[in-house]
Amino acid sequence: MELPILIAGKWRTPAAKTFGDVHNPSTGEVIARTPFCGAAEVDEAVQAAQKAFVSWSQTPAPKRATVLFKYRSLLEAHLEELAKLVTRENGKTLDEARGDVRRGFEVVEFATGIAHLQKGESLPQVAEHIDGVTMREPLGVCAGISPFNFPAMVPMWMYPLAIACGNSFILKPSEKVPLTAIRLAELFIEAGLPEGVFSLVHGGAEVVDALCTHPGIAAVSFVGSSKVAAHVYALGAQHGKRVQAGGGAKNFQIVMEDAEPDSTIRAVMGASFGCAGQRCMAGSVLVGVGAAGEPLQKRMLAAMDALKVDDTSANPAAEMGPVIDANSQKRVLGFIERGGAKLLRDGRQGIPKRGFFVGPTLYDGLLTQEEIFGPVLSLVRPASLDEAIALANRSAFGNGATLFTTSGKHARQFALDIQCGMVGINVGVPAPMSIFPFTGWNASFFGDLHMQGTEGVQFYTRQRVVLSRWDAAYRRQQGW
Ligand code: NAD
Repeated sequence: MELPILIAGKWRTPAAKTFGDVHNPSTGEVIARTPFCGAAEVDEAVQAAQKAFVSWSQTPAPKRATVLFKYRSLLEAHLEELAKLVTRENGKTLDEARGDVRRGFEVVEFATGIAHLQKGESLPQVAEHIDGVTMREPLGVCAGISPFNFPAMVPMWMYPLAIACGNSFILKPSEKVPLTAIRLAELFIEAGLPEGVFSLVHGGAEVVDALCTHPGIAAVSFVGSSKVAAHVYALGAQHGKRVQAGGGAKNFQIVMEDAEPDSTIRAVMGASFGCAGQRCMAGSVLVGVGAAGEPLQKRMLAAMDALKVDDTSANPAAEMGPVIDANSQKRVLGFIERGGAKLLRDGRQGIPKRGFFVGPTLYDGLLTQEEIFGPVLSLVRPASLDEAIALANRSAFGNGATLFTTSGKHARQFALDIQCGMVGINVGVPAPMSIFPFTGWNASFFGDLHMQGTEGVQFYTRQRVVLSRWDAAYRRQQGW
């Protein structure tokens, strides 16, 4: 099935010459074909979006919010259908897929408060007889480019808030998981969004570069690997656009001897092997401080042996699914084949024969400073918390880190000294909810204003300051 694009409120097949296969990663079967668009489709989408912006930006914020309220209800009603679609094209378990969709529509919920969020400030008599007012106005046409690992949540970090602010939006979902994005767009149209406010184009590097360089686009939101994030940031900025670009990560989970054992193992297992390790907040280095190392290794090996790895679309009891495609599987297995530390558990064994599976893998020692983006965990054992923090701070990335402890002193030291933007204390995946920004640092984020929360509103709006003088002399002159 060749997939359609959405321009000016109409779904149609683009004149693409190249296509990418969409797989069910659990079986390897091809379930759809993504057309690779180019500059022509981007230009058409921009023109439609510019036209739609004229009236959408003038629509009162409470009225824009009514469309988001309706969208929120539709997403809720279609939660199971959307979750199944996510599982089918991404391979994560149905429970993980439900979380993916729910986290997305929490952003829609946040965006329904746009009338309050977009308010400016005022100060009467900011100078003698002068009143000052700030206004937060939409930017124009915004674009979003998303990765494969959260087919629902990541696109929804972007377009609901951008559109709530009065912008029009062009989404380019990952070519590996376009089906969820198409369904999300259909439901937004059903909610009553005027035509052209939301457009959808498909493809890879060519269409991304067209979005980053088109003069009609004001802002670009990107989430993906750091290499592409840096490219999008530089190209978009060079073409005068506001850009926010989330990149890759290498997240450390530090376990102290005083940590509560059962909840810690549950959290570490979820963070390391949830979504088959394909999360930008996945724990990929497990740090057992001092005497914590030995029992941690034993408990982790037992939990990893018990993890049910299977076809997520056929087996509801599966606890971990495959990685996204054959290339990704090859890449992750390449890390294991090259080695570099002592292998404690080999994920090449005991996995389903078909599909793109890699089983949970554990190394004694740091395998690599690179992002693996698969179910491969390194266990390291420094003597102290100071050493553990120093080790984590050597990473070029800066997304998340977690400390497991029952000591307030250690928790405070960790929260202040760790060099990353999202910190967990006994929370395996400290991914902020929609009211907070998603605050990656260093090579995990390029830009200034992050996605979600009030930073998201700031990113999708610009301020105007109006100063007015209506002093007594002027009033007399006018005969008021
Ligand atoms: P990716 O960088 O390969 O692709 C992301 C997007 O960029 C896709 O839409 C793709 O079509 C496009 N793209 C790919 N190569 C391109 C190129 N050369 N030029 C222009 N565009 C290009 O990432 P992915 O494999 O889809 O996703 C996994 C990555 O995303 C991981 O590194 C993960 O850590 C990261 N991620 C980061 C966050 C965050 O918030 N920081 C969240 C989720 C995922």
